[in-house]
Amino acid sequence: MTAVEAGAAARLGREIAGSVVLPGDGGYDDARRVFNGMIDRRPHLIVRCATEADVATAIAFAHEHSIAVAVRGGGHNVAGNAVVDGGMVIDLSLMRGVDVDPVRRRARVQGGACWSDLDAATQAHGLATPGGIISSTGVAGLTLGGGIGVLRGLHGLTCDNLVGAELVTASGERASASPDENADLLWGLRGGGGNFGVVTTFEFALHPLGGVVAGPLDFRYSREFLRFYDDFVDTIPDEFSCDLVLRQSQDGEALATLLTCYCGPAEPAATVYERLRARFAPVADGVAPRSYVEAQSLYDQISPWGLRNYWKTNAMGALDSSAIDALHEIFNEAVSPLSQIQLEHLHGALHRSAPETNALNFAGAKYDLLVNAKWTDVARDDENVGWARDGFARLQPFLSGGAYPNYLFQETRERVRQAYGSEVYARLVALKDRYDPANFFRLNQNIEPSSR
Ligand SMILES: Cc1cc2nc3c(=O)[nH]c(=O)nc-3n(C[C@H](O)[C@H](O)[C@H](O)COP(=O)(O)OP(=O)(O)OC[C@H]3O[C@@H](n4cnc5c(N)ncnc54)[C@H](O)[C@@H]3O)c2cc1C
Repeated sequence: MTAVEAGAAARLGREIAGSVVLPGDGGYDDARRVFNGMIDRRPHLIVRCATEADVATAIAFAHEHSIAVAVRGGGHNVAGNAVVDGGMVIDLSLMRGVDVDPVRRRARVQGGACWSDLDAATQAHGLATPGGIISSTGVAGLTLGGGIGVLRGLHGLTCDNLVGAELVTASGERASASPDENADLLWGLRGGGGNFGVVTTFEFALHPLGGVVAGPLDFRYSREFLRFYDDFVDTIPDEFSCDLVLRQSQDGEALATLLTCYCGPAEPAATVYERLRARFAPVADGVAPRSYVEAQSLYDQISPWGLRNYWKTNAMGALDSSAIDALHEIFNEAVSPLSQIQLEHLHGALHRSAPETNALNFAGAKYDLLVNAKWTDVARDDENVGWARDGFARLQPFLSGGAYPNYLFQETRERVRQAYGSEVYARLVALKDRYDPANFFRLNQNIEPSSR
């Protein structure tokens, strides 16, 4: 930064209730780090906002100095949109408050909260709203991009349960969205990402939830197992979620791991698990009755920050024998032993919500596919990215509809449009024209305003 800029940043630090972190400050490197080790960006300043007014002040500062802005919730997004080279990060990590109203079954959640914050607060009242499966993921990014979790069959996507939001728009003004006020904006926040402003408060509908039966089941990988899985998930109740991860064990054994959760009492859960274990015997079985909070952090250890990640994603149909052959070949060709192919099963309430409830494009899809290249060695970037891209290209004949915005990497405008589908995209553009016509919030899966 120049001396003038450094002086201005210091003034900003004095004006806000939060703080400003600058290059050279202790903690700068931690504050600019995000989940994906591929992303190594150096912002000019990181504004740690403590209040809604701080967010408005930071936005005004960015306008005044004509610098690009990234908004950071939990910093989990693999595309790295929570951090920017040479610009400003509006970091919400000081704003993690959760306020639960158990009578109305509502939770008000600040924009920097993680799922561990929200799940702990709601479960204290025997309630929950659908979230992601890693407890350190940000509530903000996950909700604004959709939200696929273990309660999807019973209560839909996270964003389907978003009933209100407060945000600071590109002009620094405060806006609210609810079914009664700016309902079109509420729709846009249900999947349209951080395109319309910085969300400072989310309000969620909550549902009663006691304990669950949950855990991973490792099976020896085979094509027959994939066939079995594809049939089995057609028979599961809404309470059950069952996602498939093709991966290698530490000893190099090919595994088909099922990440399972039965959101309900142990007795009906036992019947589903019996059917699941009947045909193939698991080689490792981590299923047990658990509190929901415990179940929601089961996979934290196996998703460490800092690995290099490159993701390709799309919605996908049922697995016919050609799709299984293609998955088989791609899995066998993985360059890194850490890489995975994941199928998240989409069912129940997720498909029952009316098409206009959210901006997602999962209609008719059976799975959300994620080809996840993961590795550590910088020198092997090209090979690993190449594996994911090439594998994804070969899976094209089996893909359906759109793509999940939260799993997209750094994509072209055309790819973002295709992910949403042209009709939804046009509706999102109309909202963008209204709330952010100059595309101030552009570090996201960007909906370009029509004037650009
Ligand atoms: C290990 C891992 C596990 C995951 N598991 C799941 C899962 O189970 N289910 C699922 O659906 N997804 C999952 N995801 C994907 C996750 O939903 C996305 O990465 C999501 O964007 C993360 O949100 P965040 O707030 O942590 O991210 P960030 O990187 O902080 O932000 C993501 C995007 O949202 C914008 N943003 C963040 N906060 C705000 C705000 N307050 N207002 C406006 N815009 C904002 C950012 O600018 C950025 O564009 C997972 C990702 C990882 C890496």
